[in-house]
Amino acid sequence: MNTIWLVIPCYNEKEVLPETSKQLRVIMEDLMNRGKIGSDSKIAFVNDGSKDTTWNIISQLHDENPMFVGINLAHNRGHQNALFAGLMTAKDYADAAISLDADLQDDVAAIEQFIDKFLEGKDIVYGVRSTRETDTVFKRGTAHAFYKLMNVMGADTLEDHADYRLMSKRALEGLAEYKEVNLFLRGIVPMIGFETDVVYYKRNERFAGESKYPLKKMLSFAVEGVTSFSVKPIRMITGLGFFLFSISVLLLVYFLVIWVMGHTVEGWTTIVISVWGIGGLQLLALGVIGEYIGKTYMEVKHRPRYIIESVLYQENRVEE
Ligand code: UDP
Ligand code: MG
Repeated sequence: MNTIWLVIPCYNEKEVLPETSKQLRVIMEDLMNRGKIGSDSKIAFVNDGSKDTTWNIISQLHDENPMFVGINLAHNRGHQNALFAGLMTAKDYADAAISLDADLQDDVAAIEQFIDKFLEGKDIVYGVRSTRETDTVFKRGTAHAFYKLMNVMGADTLEDHADYRLMSKRALEGLAEYKEVNLFLRGIVPMIGFETDVVYYKRNERFAGESKYPLKKMLSFAVEGVTSFSVKPIRMITGLGFFLFSISVLLLVYFLVIWVMGHTVEGWTTIVISVWGIGGLQLLALGVIGEYIGKTYMEVKHRPRYIIESVLYQENRVEE
């Protein structure tokens, strides 16, 4: 029977873990009893360098019930890296892994649908939100702008799919082949291929604690997403540069003509404006180029994406 791992990154989640672990355990036990998943299936919490008692709670859960696995990262590496660390650990044990958030915003009732699709032979199953009514207008607006931007920029992401998804062992092995340090899973996973499917679910509100994605992190996530996947911004800048250069050539011709005709060019405003305008554009262009150079620099260094401090794992295989 199939061993399924749930992989949950946790950063300062002491308020939600007791409830989350309880709900997930009930679901997993029910699935085991009905013979849908193997008795060696696990709920793996990845502690992303939390500053509160998250890791203590995870170790305690593991001590009480070997169904809980704990993966302790040596320091905070952010949601994407923590999730990746969990998935890469799961890959060695599980036939498939489902990733979800600790705050249960991803409707846990959908877990069974993911597994059904997996049993039908799908390798990657994406969770897609059916509504966004629980989000603030701001979050909804920024999220949609983000998906639009991503698609315009050429990254093949699925709208309203976050990181609630199932991946089979071979999909995870495929994912492991992507060595990039700047990790943007939503963009990489569609590149892996295989047969995929979608599960629709309703996203709930976070039931306790605060969002760990303030605006600043959301913005850097968006920049990361775009620049990790496309070189379009650079091409756009080349295009813009060409366009502006053509205009300046035309202007030069125009001014030469009126100079020859004896009209004097009045005012220095145009000159000042163009100096500032061009200066601004150049800085913008340099900024975008710098972004890519910075990325290259990070990739070239081949730094580890995460360091696992300890793993709490114990088999709970009973007779099958
Ligand atoms: N998270 C993490 N490391 C971080 C930030 C967040 O592992 O540096 C985890 C967090 O514990 C949660 C998930 O990522 O399980 C999503 O975070 P959150 O619910 O705060 O984001 P939101 O739902 O507000 O976008
Ligand atoms: Mg959340």
